[in-house]
Amino acid sequence: MQNRQIILKSRPAGRPTQDNFEIRPIEVPVPGDGELLLKSLYISVDPYMRGRMSDAKSYVEPFQVGEPMSGGAVAEVTESRHPDFSAGDVVVSRPLAWQEYQTVPATSVQKVDKNPVPLSYYLGILGMTGLTAYFGFLDIGQPKKGETVVVSGAAGAVGTAVGQIAKIYGCSVVGIAGSDEKLRYLKDELHFDEVINYHTEKDMEQAIARACPDGVDIYFDNVGGAISDAVLANINKFARIAVCGQIALYNATEVPAGPRIQPLILKKSALMQGFIIGNYANRLPEGLARLTDWVKKGKLKHRETVIKGFEKLPEAFIGLFDGVNTGKLIVETK
Ligand code: NDP
Repeated sequence: MQNRQIILKSRPAGRPTQDNFEIRPIEVPVPGDGELLLKSLYISVDPYMRGRMSDAKSYVEPFQVGEPMSGGAVAEVTESRHPDFSAGDVVVSRPLAWQEYQTVPATSVQKVDKNPVPLSYYLGILGMTGLTAYFGFLDIGQPKKGETVVVSGAAGAVGTAVGQIAKIYGCSVVGIAGSDEKLRYLKDELHFDEVINYHTEKDMEQAIARACPDGVDIYFDNVGGAISDAVLANINKFARIAVCGQIALYNATEVPAGPRIQPLILKKSALMQGFIIGNYANRLPEGLARLTDWVKKGKLKHRETVIKGFEKLPEAFIGLFDGVNTGKLIVETK
C-alpha cells in the first residue's frame, strides 16, 4: 500500500497557487489500541480553508507550514482496533488530514449508513454545507411565506441548499452566480424565481432591483464585496442579513473598503448577523434529520462537482476561487 499526504508548504500571499502545497510519500501508519486505520474515499475542499492557510487569528487555528492540510472527509475503515468498528465500515470525520491512509482514535469519527444516499452527500447536503445553509438561513433569516430571499454564491454547495430551503418555506428566491450555465441550473432544475450573472451584469444594484420588485427581505451572503453592497442597497425594512461567507475577500491583501452600512441598517431596522456552523454544534442532529427527510422526499436536490485523484486536491481547492464547481466540490481519492 502506498500512502501520500499533502502539506502546506508555504502561506499564500493573495490567491493560493500550487506552489503553496507539496505532495509527499509517507509510511502507512499502524493503528494502536482503540484506533482505526482509515482510507480516505472522498475529501471536501472548502473556501474556509483559505483562512486557515494564513496565520491571521480567526475562529479556527491556522494550518501549520510543513504539516498536512485537513478537512472534512468520508473514509473507509481498513483495520480496526476498537470493538465498535470493523473493516469495511464507512465513517465521517472532521477534520481528517489530507492523507490517503491515517490512524485516528475511534471516538473521533461517526459511522455512516452506506445505503440511503451516495456517501459523498455526507460532505455536502447531509454534511457541513447543508447544515450551514439550514441553520444560517432558518435561524437568522426567519423566513416567512411570500418574502423575497437573495442568495449570493447561489450555485455553490451552501447556496443551492439555501435557495431550495427558501422555496420549501414559500419564499421567492433570487440567486446570484458567475456563469449562464449555473443560472440555467438554478432556474430550470432548482426552480429559483430569478437569477443574475454577476460577471456579465453591468449594474448589479439595478439588476437586483429588477429581480426583486418588492425589495429584499432576507439576504444570505456567501460572497461579500461589491455583490453584497449591491444587494444591501435593495433591502426592505426589517430585512435579515445572514453573513455566511466572504469568498470575494478571502484573497484580499489589504483591508477592503466599502460603503459604511450602519446608516442603512439603522434606517431599515435591519438585522445583520455573522455565524459559523460550529455555533449550532448542539443542534446538528435536528438539522441532519430535516435535511435527510427533504432529500429522501426529493424536495432537496444535490449536485456535486467531483474531481478524481488524491493529488488533485490543491487544484480543486484553488478552483473554488474560479467557480469551477456547481454544487459541492469534492475530490474522490481514486
Ligand atoms: P461554493 O460551493 O459556493 O464554492 C465557492 C463559489 O464561490 C465558487 O463556485 C464561485 O462561484 C464563488 N466565488 C468564488 N470567488 C468569488 C468572488 N470573488 N466573488 C463572488 N463569488 C465567488 O462554496 P461553499 O458553498 O462551500 O461556501 C460558500 C460560502 O460560505 C463561502 O464563502 C464559505 O466560506 C462560506 N461558508 C461558511 C460557513 C460558516 O460556518 N459560516 C460554512 C461553510 C461555508 P461563481 O461561479 O458563482 O463565482
